[in-house]
Amino acid sequence: MKLVDLPNLSTKRIMALSESGINSILDLLNFFPRRYIDRTTVSPIRSLKGTGEQTTVVGRIQKIQQQGRGRKKRLEVIIRDNSATLKGVWFKGGYYIKRQFSKGQLVAFFGKAKKYGRYITMAHPEVDTLSDKSEVEDLQQIVPIYPGNKALSRTHTNSKLIHKWQKMILKHEKPPEFLPPPLLNEYNLPRRHRAYRMIHLPQSESEYKKAFARFKFEELFLFELSVAKTKQEVIERQAGHRFKNLGNHTRHFFNEELPFALTGGQKSALSDIKKDVRSGTQMNRLIQGDVGSGKTVVAIGAILMAIDNGYQAAFMAPTEILAEQHFRTLSKFLQPLGINIRLLVGNQTNSLRTDILTAIEGGNCNIVVGTHAVIQEEVRFHRLGLAVIDEQHRFGVKQRAEILTKGSHPHVLVMSATPIPRSLAMTLYSDLDISVIKGLPGGRKPVKTAVRPQKKHKEIYHFVEQELRDGGQAYVVYPLVEESEKMDLKDATAGYEKLKKQFPDFEVGLLHGQMKSEDKEAVMQQFVDNQLQVLVSTTVIEVGVDVPNASIMIVEHAERFGLSQLHQLRGRIGRGERQSYCILIHGPKVSREGRFRLRKMAQTDDGFEIAEADLKLRGPGDFLGTKQSGLPEFRVADIVEDQWILEQAKSAAWDIMKEDPQLDRPAHEELKKVFIPYYKERSKFYGMG
Ligand code: ADP
Ligand code: MG
Repeated sequence: MKLVDLPNLSTKRIMALSESGINSILDLLNFFPRRYIDRTTVSPIRSLKGTGEQTTVVGRIQKIQQQGRGRKKRLEVIIRDNSATLKGVWFKGGYYIKRQFSKGQLVAFFGKAKKYGRYITMAHPEVDTLSDKSEVEDLQQIVPIYPGNKALSRTHTNSKLIHKWQKMILKHEKPPEFLPPPLLNEYNLPRRHRAYRMIHLPQSESEYKKAFARFKFEELFLFELSVAKTKQEVIERQAGHRFKNLGNHTRHFFNEELPFALTGGQKSALSDIKKDVRSGTQMNRLIQGDVGSGKTVVAIGAILMAIDNGYQAAFMAPTEILAEQHFRTLSKFLQPLGINIRLLVGNQTNSLRTDILTAIEGGNCNIVVGTHAVIQEEVRFHRLGLAVIDEQHRFGVKQRAEILTKGSHPHVLVMSATPIPRSLAMTLYSDLDISVIKGLPGGRKPVKTAVRPQKKHKEIYHFVEQELRDGGQAYVVYPLVEESEKMDLKDATAGYEKLKKQFPDFEVGLLHGQMKSEDKEAVMQQFVDNQLQVLVSTTVIEVGVDVPNASIMIVEHAERFGLSQLHQLRGRIGRGERQSYCILIHGPKVSREGRFRLRKMAQTDDGFEIAEADLKLRGPGDFLGTKQSGLPEFRVADIVEDQWILEQAKSAAWDIMKEDPQLDRPAHEELKKVFIPYYKERSKFYGMG
């Protein structure tokens, strides 16, 4: 059966379907209902008590009226079934909602029924517009309601028509199963064909729920199978370099150079790394540690293991500022040991660049620190043994894959300060091993956080001035208008001018992403050296920058920042002896969500808790950055809500990968047909295909 075989399918409708991503019969089957009307719960209006019971009512629109004035303005839509009338009320957005209604139209309202005076009322009900009564009563006990959009409604391709098509398709077509039968049994999943029927023509609520669970499983299973395969290929392909010696450099650094004792978390991360690099297989490890937990020292430890065994190491950071800072830190600690470190960034002169590249290729350079410039084509290593990727959430999976191919498969250490709930991390990054650095170095005083409105600027500046007089330093951060380093500088520049006047006794500097790398470096260095006491900046300082004497972080328009970003910014202070203060300043208009974020920041400094809240607010796609994380857009599954299915899918995927890695058994024939193109698509994305 083909799409064009469907009845009532005009060219215009074909176009509308195509605009909705539906180009085949299978696409249409995969167009799932948004929700269902359970006919058994459609109540006659007269039967409603109005005590807040949740239900669906169906009736024709009798009256559409705007009521009240000013703040009391509201839209009222009165509908009538054959028993009584009911009033739908919208206190907000009435103007837009009104447009979808017309008198005499048949609609379904779903919501809580409450009695006010004479009327049973539903406030902000969910609305479905129905073409005629049969849509509710004809067919099924449970009526699927398909998502609509402009294209579909323009061509009157309503839910009812779509449902009719689905029914017809399912009469003729039997989409093949590809999940192996034992797996269906083990996880109690309906077969594919049946599952489509249960989605589009369900007999009960539990039926369509079961079917949804199957499709979620299917989606997550393919994903986990691809993760398992990637991991397996990495293990097979890459025998790792063996770093057998714990040599002089490592010993000297930890025993004599390092001015502090390692925390428990740092020690255990280092011992994980040591085990990996001696194992004979390639290390692929993620270090998760909150901002300030001291990941850099761990990286240095790993780098020294490489150097002690005659290998080079690469250290990649997402921004130049951060690369430069790492370069300084590493130089400070390691140059005295006679280790040669070079910085490779975007805008160096050609001759300098050639010089650096020659040193890397010749093996004179032991460590190269840089931005993604480090993995560019023309950088050839003499003997690359280890690649460290800092703040890995800022890089794509692709970059990680790219660095895996540099040299002869170096060990890879990625570091992230975006705490992802552990179970989620293990599932997402299951091709990585994970070490978590728990706790911050001792002796730190927790940062005090305050949320203040803009009108308190005077008091805030007064407070800042006292801190500055007392020897502290302050960051003042303005939001980017766009999510890039090419930004609208108006706010930060104006703020800079204002603060120069405000603090005439102190030096104020400005840092932004459009400055040349040397200039940024110079400003940052001045702040590190306390030649500047106030640093006005856009979010370029967000990641990783370390100035222990800085004790104040002011974030302007804090309501515009995401939770994880605020957490990162706050992590810039509280790194030294001083009591530190984070002041989150918000504008006069703050959304509900914005207020929640600010309150959360004031409540806790636990990175994992903040991450969890952020994840809930933004959803996994935005939180991890779908493109960045290598996470596909799931069509039906939700990796946060459906954790449990995810776990099952993962365990099923690994079982199969262990038993039959090439999927050559007859029982896996259909699976292989589906999986191979899926995997190819993903591998392309990983940069491995
Ligand atoms: P992050 O994990 O955010 O990258 P850094 O590596 O920048 O953290 O470390 C933050 C600060 O803590 C640095 O100034 C570093 O020198 C210091 N530090 C790291 N480890 C320890 C430790 N064990 N004891 C005391 N200070 C430490
Ligand atoms: Mg760091």
